[in-house]
Amino acid sequence: PQLVNRIAAGEIIQRPFNALKELIENCLDAGSTSINIQIKEGGLKLIQISDNGCGINKEDLKIVCERFTTSKLKEFEDLKSINTFGFRGEALASISHVSRLTIITKTQDSPCAFKAMYSDGKLAKDGIKPCAAASRGTQIIVEDLFYNSSIRRNALKGGSDEFAKIYEVVSRYAIHNYHVGFYLKRIGESSMDLKTPGCSIRSVENENYLQDVIGILYGADMKKELERISVEYDDRLKFEMLAYMTNSRYTQLKQLTFVLFINERLVDCQPIKKSLQNLFQMYLPKSTNPFIYMNLKIDPKNLDVNIHPTKHEVRFLYQDEIISRIEKSFEEKLLDSST
Ligand code: ADP
Ligand code: MG
Repeated sequence: PQLVNRIAAGEIIQRPFNALKELIENCLDAGSTSINIQIKEGGLKLIQISDNGCGINKEDLKIVCERFTTSKLKEFEDLKSINTFGFRGEALASISHVSRLTIITKTQDSPCAFKAMYSDGKLAKDGIKPCAAASRGTQIIVEDLFYNSSIRRNALKGGSDEFAKIYEVVSRYAIHNYHVGFYLKRIGESSMDLKTPGCSIRSVENENYLQDVIGILYGADMKKELERISVEYDDRLKFEMLAYMTNSRYTQLKQLTFVLFINERLVDCQPIKKSLQNLFQMYLPKSTNPFIYMNLKIDPKNLDVNIHPTKHEVRFLYQDEIISRIEKSFEEKLLDSST
C-alpha cells in the first residue's frame, strides 16, 4: 500500500510547482493576506511557505496528512457548495508521500505554536511538539522532493527550469490574489524574485492593485495598455467574468499569455483559449501577442474538475454558450479599440 500511495501521490505532484500550487491554495483558503515563499534548487531541495492565515488546531495536526480527512470533507453535502477545487483533501497527503514534510502552525487562541513532521501520510514518531512562534499562521516546509522516487526526480531537467515554473505559478496567483502580499525568494540569492504589496480586500474599488501587480511583473508599459472586459452575472448560465487584456498597441510579448482562474483556481481550458486565439487572428495585427488575465466564476455544481488528477484542465456545463458570451465581450472590445 505504501508504494501504491506513493504512485498516486506522484500523479498529483509531478513537479515542484504542483506542490507549491496546492500549498498556496491552502494559505489562501486559510484567509492569509501575506504569503512568503522561499525556494532552494527549484523547489527540489526546499519549498518553504509561510502565511498569516488561521493556523491549524493541534488536534487536526494528527490527521492533516491523511488522505481524504480534510476539514472540508466533514459534511459530504458541502462538496456541492465548495467554491474552490481544493476539496479532495489529498494535497498534503500526497506531498508527505514524496518528500520530508514539516508543519509549524499557530492558531489565534493557542499560547504557543506546534511543530509536526510527516512521512508517507503519517505523523513522525516524535509527534507534535510545542515551539515558539510570535504570530498566527502556518509554515509548511517541504524538503527533498522525490527523494524516494528517482524516476520522478530524474525526469526533471533541473533547478532553473523548475524555478521558472514556480515563478510563473506564484506570479499568476499574485495577480489573481492582488489583495494578498506575495514574496518569492531563492535562498542564497541576494534579491527578491517577486514582491507584491497586497491591499487586504479584493474589490472592484481595489482593482488598480490588480493592474499594479501586472505592472510589477511585466512592466509599466504593459500596465498602461490594459483594458477591462467583463460579463455580468448571468442567471441562466450561472457565470460571470472579469478580464484584463493588453490592447493592439502592446507588442512586447513573444507569445499569447493566457492566465485563467476558474473559481479561484489556476486552470487550463483549451476551448476558451482556442476561441480567443481565433478572435485575435481576425482582429489583431500579427505582431501582437496579447496578455490576458481572466477571472471566471461558474456555479460549482456545473463544473467538472476531476478529469485529470492534477485538476488542471476543466470542463463545465453550458460550455459552448458561456464561451460564446465571453467571445462576444472580447469581440466588442476589439472592435472598439480598432476604430
Ligand atoms: P484540502 O485543502 O483539500 O482540504 P489539503 O491536503 O490541501 O486538503 O490540506 C488539508 C487540511 O490541512 C486543510 O483542509 C486545512 O484544514 C489544513 N491546512 C493546510 N494548509 C493550511 C494552512 N496553510 N493554513 C491553515 N490550514 C491549513
Ligand atoms: Mg488544499
